[in-house]
Amino acid sequence: MQKKNIAILGSTGSIGTQALDVIRANKDLFTVEVLVGNSNADLLIKQAQEFLPNAVVIADETKYQQVKEALQPLDIKVFAGEKSVEQIVEMESIHLVLAAIVGYAGLASTLNAIKHKKHIALANKETLVVAGELVSKLAQENNVHIYPVDSEHSAIFQCLPGEGANEIEKIFLTASGGPFRGKTRKDLENVTKAQALKHPNWSMGAKITIDSASLMNKGLEVIEAKWLFDLKPQQIDVIVHPQSIIHSIVQFADGSMKAQMGLPDMKLPIQYAFTFPLRIKNNFPRFNFLDYPNLTFEKADTDTFLNLSLAYDALSKGGNMPCILNAANEVAVDAFLKDKIKFLQMSEVVLNTMQKSKHQTNLNYEGFVETDKSARIIAAEEVSKLKI
Ligand code: NDP
Ligand code: MG
Repeated sequence: MQKKNIAILGSTGSIGTQALDVIRANKDLFTVEVLVGNSNADLLIKQAQEFLPNAVVIADETKYQQVKEALQPLDIKVFAGEKSVEQIVEMESIHLVLAAIVGYAGLASTLNAIKHKKHIALANKETLVVAGELVSKLAQENNVHIYPVDSEHSAIFQCLPGEGANEIEKIFLTASGGPFRGKTRKDLENVTKAQALKHPNWSMGAKITIDSASLMNKGLEVIEAKWLFDLKPQQIDVIVHPQSIIHSIVQFADGSMKAQMGLPDMKLPIQYAFTFPLRIKNNFPRFNFLDYPNLTFEKADTDTFLNLSLAYDALSKGGNMPCILNAANEVAVDAFLKDKIKFLQMSEVVLNTMQKSKHQTNLNYEGFVETDKSARIIAAEEVSKLKI
């Protein structure tokens, strides 16, 4: 494999730091070309001192001076601000961009990277939820590959080589069910954010951990799968699998099913996105069947967790509806994390915002930006009505 220069957008986050673990273990294969963070200047500086990238961007401009001064002796270029995050991906020397910023904030940089013909390792699922059609079209026009990092989508992607033109009949995205699996709406009325932040199988950033507890994460993943694998909503099913060992399943025209399995560890899908189509050796812990004598499956409870149904609704309505769903969810999760609304009220905010927003189709990028903005205003009003 030719050595790859990688730009890591969101290097200070859960995915970003695990990506750096993968790179640290394979310095002969990868170079860190760019590091981007939001406001965690201390960690960003530490990462830059270790990996010596060509350039570093800190989105929070108030931290610019601190990062600049720390990295001056190392001759590393330092930039700050949202525009720099978007523009840094244009650097000629970058071969692959890891899109691991959380939320809508990751859209502009990913789109710009695609426009500049950079291949994408995609963790930021919100990019495809907000503007899947636009992103897929741009990727196609620019011959850009989008390698999924999300474990379920990586699983599907790993099941496809060798299948040629064989069509996918259906996919099954597995879901752990999160910390509240088996609970009723009554049980969930007063759950705290500390309870919601305790994921049974995965250690992740706060936003996706709340999304996992509310099943919005699986909803976002259904939409993400639609665009990654060009599927109809009816071809995408969700099955709860609490052990998180089977990461997802593809069913082909003859009924045969292929699954990808392994211990829950994001380093594996990150590594595969970096090395595809090759697999390289690593020392990640191996799965032992006898530690998991029972792999179990359940139906997803969409009466308790309304978000999954809302995401399917948004997907079938299409146009800007998934963008509205995403914006409302980002506002709702933020409000829940700030103790402004209760756990179950997050779905209320999303539903009401979807109902009150204007449904539009055939949008360009500016149309999605506008939709995101107005949906956030409506969602914030919904939050203030509910305020506890
Ligand atoms: P984290 O919250 O841990 O990290 C988010 C990263 O994005 C941080 O580096 C943060 O910087 C940076 N960031 C946030 N806002 C901005 C901004 N406006 N401009 C520039 N950088 C910004 O999230 P995760 O790593 O958990 O998740 C990242 C993405 O990957 C999400 O879309 C998530 O859905 C997806 N994903 C994550 C998985 C996981 O296991 N964690 C699994 C599958 C998908 P700072 O630290 O300085 O604030
Ligand atoms: Mg996932």
